[in-house]
Amino acid sequence: MDNDKWYMRTAEDTLRFWDTSQDEGLSTNEVKTRLNKFGFNEMTEKAKTPWWKQLFAQFQDFMVLILLGATLISAFLGEYVDAITILAIVIINAILGFVQEFRAEKSMQALKKLAAPTVRVIRNGMLQQIAAKELVPGDIMVLEAGDKLSADGRLVAAQGIEVEEAALTGESLPVRKTPDKIYLENSPLGDRKNMVYAGTVVTRGRGRAVACATGMATEVGFIAGMIQESADEATPLEKRLEHLGRWLVWGCLAICLVVVITGVVRGEPLFLMCMAGISLAVAAIPEGLPAIVTVALALGVQRMIKRNAIVRKLPAVETLGCTTVICSDKTGTLTQNAMTVKCIFTGMNTYELTGSGYDIKGEFRLNQQVVAPAADKQLVNCLEIAALCNNSVLKRNSVSISGLWRKSNDSAWSIEGDPTEGALIVAAAKADVWRENLEKNKLRIGEIPFESDRRRMSVIYRQGSEYWLYTKGAPDTIAGLCKYYHNGRTETPISREILAKLAQANDEMTSRSLRVLAVAGRRISKAEADHPSENSEANLAFLGLIGMMDPPRAEAKQAIAVCKQAGIKTVMITGDHRNTATAIARELKLYDENKNKALTGQELDNLSDEELAKVVDQVTVYARVSPAHKLRIVKALKKQGHIVAMTGDGVNDAPAVKEADIGIAMGCAGTDVTKEASAMILADDNFATIVAAVEEGRGIYDNIRKFIRYLLACNTGEVLTMFVAALAGLPMPLLPVQILWVNLVTDGLPAMALGVDNNDPHIMYRPPRHPGESVFSRGLSRKIIGRGLQIGFSTIFVFSLVYYLKEDLALARTMAFSTLVFSQMFHVFDCRSELYSVFEAGLFKNKFLVFAVLCSSLMHIAVIYNPFLSNVFATVPLSLTDWLLVLGVSGWTFIVNGFKYVFLRRYVARALLNR
Ligand code: ATP
Repeated sequence: MDNDKWYMRTAEDTLRFWDTSQDEGLSTNEVKTRLNKFGFNEMTEKAKTPWWKQLFAQFQDFMVLILLGATLISAFLGEYVDAITILAIVIINAILGFVQEFRAEKSMQALKKLAAPTVRVIRNGMLQQIAAKELVPGDIMVLEAGDKLSADGRLVAAQGIEVEEAALTGESLPVRKTPDKIYLENSPLGDRKNMVYAGTVVTRGRGRAVACATGMATEVGFIAGMIQESADEATPLEKRLEHLGRWLVWGCLAICLVVVITGVVRGEPLFLMCMAGISLAVAAIPEGLPAIVTVALALGVQRMIKRNAIVRKLPAVETLGCTTVICSDKTGTLTQNAMTVKCIFTGMNTYELTGSGYDIKGEFRLNQQVVAPAADKQLVNCLEIAALCNNSVLKRNSVSISGLWRKSNDSAWSIEGDPTEGALIVAAAKADVWRENLEKNKLRIGEIPFESDRRRMSVIYRQGSEYWLYTKGAPDTIAGLCKYYHNGRTETPISREILAKLAQANDEMTSRSLRVLAVAGRRISKAEADHPSENSEANLAFLGLIGMMDPPRAEAKQAIAVCKQAGIKTVMITGDHRNTATAIARELKLYDENKNKALTGQELDNLSDEELAKVVDQVTVYARVSPAHKLRIVKALKKQGHIVAMTGDGVNDAPAVKEADIGIAMGCAGTDVTKEASAMILADDNFATIVAAVEEGRGIYDNIRKFIRYLLACNTGEVLTMFVAALAGLPMPLLPVQILWVNLVTDGLPAMALGVDNNDPHIMYRPPRHPGESVFSRGLSRKIIGRGLQIGFSTIFVFSLVYYLKEDLALARTMAFSTLVFSQMFHVFDCRSELYSVFEAGLFKNKFLVFAVLCSSLMHIAVIYNPFLSNVFATVPLSLTDWLLVLGVSGWTFIVNGFKYVFLRRYVARALLNR
């Protein structure tokens, strides 16, 4: 039999072949050997473009090619100094551009690595989470609903597992898998029900499979390029800027043509004017804009990572700043997900439990008296079912706990698995009830897994010749399935009286913001045990209610307050009971019964889309909702014009996460499917992280506006200087190399430093930006044109003044050259804030900017005073009075603007006070 036809082998045979076992898996040493033999579990990537090719690509830009042509012509005409200078500037520019793009790409690669998939495997007899890349043939993969397969595998155990194989077979309906069958040679891929394949998704149930093929050996590996990531998307802003760039190119070229023609008509040499025209075009066209936008986005994304938000889709960064509603799950996001059982109701008695976290120290109290739990058979029964109908594992110092370890005094307790189930195990342990002990004479033979839609889970145990079904879940769901009441000794039909008591106990617990689960069970037939289905979850006997505390996160409360100031509404969406949800929402200050509404899933079902649209703005709590409701909520909010951020974790949350403007997946609790549908992943599952990401999103957009304002105002100033001089019949105020130099020192470092500027401390006091808003809105275009005019006319003023008074063209040019450079150096500080003066925003807050301006200024001074450079750039040394004039003219607007805000604000404040 061929080694790759695993579907023809039994599970045992396959395990034997790979020399592994279902419960032990591979050893660390064996994994190392197999990694060497089979390599990493990854697709061979497309060859990356080498760095030198990327550098070379910088010279393929149209404008750069023209400049290179100009260099050649200069050299040909014997203007060697000019030729070398232009070439040097072109090379420095290319290196700057290359560094910018290289940084952007590197950070994008780092991001991809962070979002890399993981898998759960059994190794050395322990459940472990590893990077999918490190999976080797023979590894035992542990599969659950929502997992995306990372390798091809032969199923060895399954509990109602269904897999959606559309990626391979095109069939979008999930396929039920089973390890028991074997298939004939050449059975079509879709028929091999004992196999699971890389790239497909588990939609229901759970199971284990032994990995048989990894990396390029998988079925999907054969389909070339299928897994290769699609090209990085340009963000809407990048697209809009590209469009704007094209218009600017034509506008600048037209103006340059006018400058060249008027110069030639006035008798300037044709060659000089052509060079000036080309240089001006190069300087005026903001070719660096898209690259700086990408760098600003990528660096912003890195800042987000530091705050635990991993952005998967770059356009999300822009949308984040526009968010008007954040819909968040409750458990684990707004709350700590550190559950502790506080209360157990058995139908007869209500016990209070003490203790905190997962530590198994704690007492049972009845009417405030400490009692021995073993004395109440009904309580013990209830805890036994809670421990058995459970997939979590209690650990101490990362070691699984069985009865043996429980006497130790060490307190490093932790839970592997669902915290709700963990809390139940701890509560049982407090009464000395251990699953390991119970399983000595009971064997689990089946499970009907938990799903958010069902709000319950069941397990099936065999004890001798008897079969038992144990269920736990939301009380309202379980109550409907119960026909009997078990008082610890006998079973009686459940009376109205008991049901009323149950409802009352549930209400009491939920209004204390406890999350409540009901436990129930019954004896079942062998036939039912052999084919477990939801139909078996009926005619159950009710055993008790268990209430657990999940305190709100302190930082979530703060973050919700920040959202309120920032005009962002927070909505809690939970599968939990309405009372529990509203009690916690009240604590978090996101729900006030006088102002807000709380809707349950059932109430939502009774509303038409139009009716929902009418109330959606008032609802801040949705309780007992299933994932399908989430999609309706997102759609209703979007219809009202909201920009919606929505969190999700389970496999069924993926459609809502995809539909939201910003889909957010949980990094810890989230399934692979939800992560793939999301635009952003929260590494810590924390609500406050979403708000931090929104703040960063706003900051990044602000920074992009800052350097657009800076670059375009400076370029307008440069073009205007040359254009007005040409129209006024003045000699050329700047020589071609000088123009290129201005472009280099001003567009390079200072613009980049603006791209990484600090966030405005009041950034979360503003309302969200409208997503359709132009980058030039809110007065930005006025600021750009106004400042461009100031820079242009200041330069012309200095040039003509010196030229007419001193009749020294070289001096006039050097001073115009310096005025242009320093006007921009002053202006860059103005660009740090649109609302505050330079002094209020803090002159030295952005250290990179101070450093960049210092570097650029020193470089410019070197160009004037270094004999070699002054020769190249045709500059002459300036006296102190010359400098005073240059700095005075360049800086006056900076000073005036600085104070204007302060005075204006005072004046307005006083006028308002005097009203
Ligand atoms: P969120 O607030 O993030 O939506 P949630 O835990 O409230 O999370 P679900 O996980 O969908 O929402 O759970 C819905 C209900 O199902 C819970 O309120 C609880 O009653 C019940 N439940 C939760 N976990 C389990 C479980 N492991 N076994 C049985 N029932 C559960």
